[in-house]
Amino acid sequence: MLGAAAVTPSCTTTGKKDKGANVAAPTGPSAAPGPLPSSTGTQNSYNRVATSMPFIALTFDDGPHPTNTPRLLDLLRQRNVKATFYVIATNVKRYPEIMRRIIAEGHEVGNHTVTHGNLAKMPDERVRQELRGCHEAIIAATGVAPKTMRPPYGAITSAQKAWVRREFGYPSILWSVDPEDWKKPGSSVVSSRLVSGATPGGILLVHDIHAPTIDAMPSTLDQLLGKGFQFVTVTQLIAMDGKG
Ligand SMILES: [Zn+2]
Repeated sequence: MLGAAAVTPSCTTTGKKDKGANVAAPTGPSAAPGPLPSSTGTQNSYNRVATSMPFIALTFDDGPHPTNTPRLLDLLRQRNVKATFYVIATNVKRYPEIMRRIIAEGHEVGNHTVTHGNLAKMPDERVRQELRGCHEAIIAATGVAPKTMRPPYGAITSAQKAWVRREFGYPSILWSVDPEDWKKPGSSVVSSRLVSGATPGGILLVHDIHAPTIDAMPSTLDQLLGKGFQFVTVTQLIAMDGKG
């Protein structure tokens, strides 16, 4: 992902420094039956949510990919880890069966536009087309409407965030940890950046179109689970904002 530095400052106000995973006592919601609550919150965008509970959201952008995404889904299923996939409409149309598998296995899907352009540089009507096109492609493939969007490159203006929220109901989802996996730093580097960057309420950004990122997942997931983190989808994470 290019130009990630274009991210605007976070709307969240988690001023306090989290102490990290060592606070995660294994008494938490692993024992809780039933589905977790889901929400799109009240803010126009999120880089993370305010919670001291050891929940994180793992997000995969730019897919689905014909071989890497199924391989990833196997790894997630083996560990009962739920993730969120920010998909591009062209890939949704190309691989609808993978989209249906993502949904069937309890993951969440979000809108990542049609052409993966820089929304901040587009007129509003073009942005609208980008979001509407991907929204409709996801529904056509899965029957499920996306509830959040991620702007390509993290590039979106405050004004766009506001009207996107109003018209589509989407909060713009950015991230708190970016290991820059698209620069291909190697699987072990991707893994260590994710593990060291994860904090309660964090949103982790990677891309399921890159094979080395999938290679990094077994070690990453096992280390984060070992530290007591629990993986939830983005809307489940937002539902925890400000709660404990
Ligand atoms: Zn992207």
